[in-house]
Amino acid sequence: MLEIKDINVFYGKIHALKNVSLQVAKGEIVTIVGANGAGKSTLMWTLAGVLKARDGSIIYKDRPLPSFAHDVAASGIILVPERRRLYANLTVRENLIMGAFLRNDINEVKKDLEFIYGLFPILKERSNQYAGTLSGGEQQMAAIARGLMSRPEILLLDEPSLGLSPLYTSEVFKTIRQIRDKGTTILLAEQNAHKALEMANRAYVLETGRIVLSGTGKELLANAAVQEAYLGVR
Ligand code: ATP
Repeated sequence: MLEIKDINVFYGKIHALKNVSLQVAKGEIVTIVGANGAGKSTLMWTLAGVLKARDGSIIYKDRPLPSFAHDVAASGIILVPERRRLYANLTVRENLIMGAFLRNDINEVKKDLEFIYGLFPILKERSNQYAGTLSGGEQQMAAIARGLMSRPEILLLDEPSLGLSPLYTSEVFKTIRQIRDKGTTILLAEQNAHKALEMANRAYVLETGRIVLSGTGKELLANAAVQEAYLGVR
C-alpha cells in the first residue's frame, strides 16, 4: 500500500533520514522504534507531505505520493502528530468535527462521530468540554479520534504514548488495535518499544536516520540488540 524506497531528508545540512526504505501493507500495524532524535517524526512529516525527500521515492497505492500535504490527506494518509496539537479553545466535539473538514457527507460524519464515541466513551462524556481541559491521555484519544474523522486509509501515529500514564498507554494501544481490526492501516512511531512491538505485524528500528533492523514484531522483541537498546534487558 505504501512503499518507501531510499529516501533522504535534510534540514539544511542535517541529514535526518538516510536511504530509508520501508513498506506498509494494507491492514497492518507497522511500528517504527527509535530513540529521541532518531528521525521518527521526520519520517512521519515526510509521509504526510509536509517535508520533502531530496531523493528516493514514496509510492502510495501504486502512485507517487502527492506533492502537497492537503492532497496527501485527501488521498487517505492522515498524521496524528506528536504532542497532540488539539485546538485547546474548541470543545472536544468541535475538534472532532474539524477532523472531517475534507468531507461534505454530513450524515456520514454524524454517524462516524457516534462510532468514535463508541470507541472512546470518555470523549462522549467530555464532548462539550474545551479540549484544553482534558488530561493528557484524553487529549491523545481526542487527537486519534480527530484523525479517524477523516476516514483515513493509513493513520500515522507519532508517539501516541508520550507523557501518558501506564494505564492510559494501555488504553490507547488497545484502541489502536481496534482501529486496525476495523480496517485502517497503521504506521506507529514509538519510544515505548515493548508495547508497540507486541502489537506490530512488522517493525523497523531507526537509528540516527537509518533503518538498522526489521522483522515481525515478535522477531524484534526477541532480538538481543533490540532488547538491550530499547527494552531495558541486559
Ligand atoms: P523525538 O522522539 O525526539 O521527536 P525523532 O525520532 O522523532 O525524535 P526527529 O524529530 O525526526 O527525531 O529528528 C531527527 C533529527 O533531525 C534530529 O537530529 C533532530 O535534531 C533533527 N531535526 C528535527 N527537526 C529539525 C528542524 N526543524 N531543524 C533542524 N533539525 C531538526
